[in-house]
Amino acid sequence: MTASTTNNIDAKAQIDFPCIGDGCEGVVHFNLLDITRKDFQAVCATCHNSYEFDNELIDKLKRMCDLIISIRKAEDILGNCKVSVNVAGGEVKIPYALLLTRLNTIITLKLGEKDVDFHLWVEPSSPETFR
Ligand SMILES: [Zn+2]
Repeated sequence: MTASTTNNIDAKAQIDFPCIGDGCEGVVHFNLLDITRKDFQAVCATCHNSYEFDNELIDKLKRMCDLIISIRKAEDILGNCKVSVNVAGGEVKIPYALLLTRLNTIITLKLGEKDVDFHLWVEPSSPETFR
């Protein structure tokens, strides 16, 4: 039995997005799993601007969180999956896990009136899973 079969959903899902404060070039970081906490607040480390997310955005982030938890539960299955891409001269097989953990996922969501790119960083729960 491997660690991925336990119910320990200790996912590390960091989100960051560029601060939209006036002239601020800071980055706002938070843990996606914290989004369900009542006292949740995303604060820019540079200008200390705090962000209140509207219900629609929180709903999207919660569903993203559910997705990550589902992926976490399926880690041992996904560890065996590959995405096959046809290229000139053959076929490239990319382990699915690589897509999930090595590439940055960017989700563009509306923050107030602005489209903001949220960067999502997900780590496998066990470093042994995706080798
Ligand atoms: Zn800022």
